Amino acid sequence: MTGIAVLGSTNMDLVAYVARAPKRGETVTGRDFHTIPGGKGANQAVAAARAGGDVSMIGAVGADDFGSLLRRTLESSGVDTDLLRTAEGPSGTAHIVVDDEGGNSIVVVPGANGHVTSLAPGDETLIASVDTLLLQLELPLSAVLDGAEAARRHGVRTVLTPAPAQPLPPELLAAVDLLIPNEHEAAALAGVFDPPAAAQELLRQVPEVVITLGSAGCLYAARDTPPLTVPAPRVTAVDTTAAGDAFVGALAVALGEGRPMREALAWASAAAALCVQRPGASPSMPYRPEIDAAYASHTAGPRS
Ligand code: AMP
Repeated sequence: MTGIAVLGSTNMDLVAYVARAPKRGETVTGRDFHTIPGGKGANQAVAAARAGGDVSMIGAVGADDFGSLLRRTLESSGVDTDLLRTAEGPSGTAHIVVDDEGGNSIVVVPGANGHVTSLAPGDETLIASVDTLLLQLELPLSAVLDGAEAARRHGVRTVLTPAPAQPLPPELLAAVDLLIPNEHEAAALAGVFDPPAAAQELLRQVPEVVITLGSAGCLYAARDTPPLTVPAPRVTAVDTTAAGDAFVGALAVALGEGRPMREALAWASAAAALCVQRPGASPSMPYRPEIDAAYASHTAGPRS
């Protein structure tokens, strides 16, 4: 099994559905409410575990009921939480208001995630033992950088999802093997809008890049090989939340198993396409048999 460590966030998404979002000082009555486990780190951990990886989560939940629920959600998908700390205060939360036009506004309160400022005892030993470390940007940058540098010291593949988009210190990019931005993050980091041009620009800082392109699939570029474009399966999307995390989790598993890049990208695209057909974040991640079946039917089709 592919050993994967995720150093990242856990959040409880609190989603209220309303006809229209309230203005300042106004109260509106909502139509529905969902409590959904998320956070980019936890989403990637669940995605990788369900895709067949041997996954451990490093990070923190709060000392509250959400924290217990977030921990149980990870464990029920087979993620090892021995190094997931319980920090003082609340768990990370995302307060999401979705209106009838599908627009949303979101307040993220980092809570326990904000306490993860560096690696704790045991974290580096775990990182040294895995094939791949998955990083995102929902923890303090100091911890992300510590994780990337630990992985580099031990020759562990480091995969960074640069979300939410923000300027990155060059020393972080210098420790990353594979960068996986969406097209907006790629444009923000590269200062160029066109994805192929953005990929070339990013290759000055990292050896390999995958830019995810929503329903258009993804673009892979590396310093020493020609770029690859892999289409996404044509599906009806009901909720694209965490599609990128489904993609990254599955890709890490496939690459860890030594599958060639084009095949790994197509398999990850099959996983992400399953994710967008279901509501929610972590709960929408597909299991390996479903990914294998979707991949087989996609590659057997006329677009293979
Ligand atoms: P994004 O973060 O929007 O770029 O999406 C990440 C990945 O999820 C893409 O590279 C696709 O593999 C998949 N994906 C996103 N939206 C769709 C969609 N509407 N249909 C099929 N796959 C999708």
